Amino acid sequence: MVLADLGRRINGALSALNRAPTIDDKLLDAMLKEICTALLESDVNVKLVASLRTRVRSKVKAALEGDKGREAQRKNVVQKAVFDELVGLVNPGVEPYKPKKGQPNVLMAVGLQGNGKTTTCTKLAVYYQKRGFKSCIVCADTFRAGAFDQTRQSATKAKVAYFGSYTETDPVVIAAQGVDKFRKERFEIIIVDTSGRHKQEKDLFQEMEMIGRAVQPDMTILVLDASIGQAAEAQSRAFKESADFGAIIVTKMDGHAKGGGAISAVAATQTPIIFLGTGEHLSDLERFAPEPFISKMLG
Ligand code: GDP
Repeated sequence: MVLADLGRRINGALSALNRAPTIDDKLLDAMLKEICTALLESDVNVKLVASLRTRVRSKVKAALEGDKGREAQRKNVVQKAVFDELVGLVNPGVEPYKPKKGQPNVLMAVGLQGNGKTTTCTKLAVYYQKRGFKSCIVCADTFRAGAFDQTRQSATKAKVAYFGSYTETDPVVIAAQGVDKFRKERFEIIIVDTSGRHKQEKDLFQEMEMIGRAVQPDMTILVLDASIGQAAEAQSRAFKESADFGAIIVTKMDGHAKGGGAISAVAATQTPIIFLGTGEHLSDLERFAPEPFISKMLG
């Protein structure tokens, strides 16, 4: 189920409760069952859904206990409990790193090949460039043939400075050289694009760790494809162990992705989502914030 449909299902469940003359346990349970089924069908982790159900129920019970208030107010209590718990799903309560002007901010992007990493690096550079940061990209992916060409083409199109090499085969050397050069040139946003595939997974993680040590990123960003569904959780946990990323960008939110898997990655790694990728164009990048996201989903 895509997010818009999820929003409609949750709204439908809340409206059914609103239409009822009085709230009782049976109605509350029916509403929660419908909301939880919709969340599960959107690939949200089963434990998170179970805990949302328990928390909404206990919040509502605590608020309504002995309360003989007007029925409309009682319904508001339910609405608010559901809204707050949905926000909680996408809010790990951790503030992401905020790039500062007048100094180099090194952002390192990690993620499996095909998730949209290279596209997202250029989108990020454009985003910050538009906001007055002098931005650039370092292509440290030497594994995939054509990776540097892709960076070169999209960076040129976006009028963003870039660094890479056709001859150097060590990604750690390229990353270090590129970041060093751009630091000296007083770039403010330096985005390091890393490889998303290797012969063995452990080689990929080892390479990421080495690049991390060489460039000392201010923020490591996991780029996660919304359409990978429930696999997002295991994938994000694996990356968290090797590259302690401090932010997530979920890509391909414009497609038929369910999105719930990516939401579960937030809870699994206690890491905030900072942007959503919403298309293939360089401007298709939206800032993410928990409350506006849930409000928009509920329409
Ligand atoms: P990488 O291997 O992780 O570097 O992935 P790429 O940046 O090469 O992207 C893989 C494919 O996903 C490309 O065809 C991109 O155009 C596409 N892509 C990336 N982000 C988005 C997005 O937000 N929405 C859509 N629809 N496509 C995207």
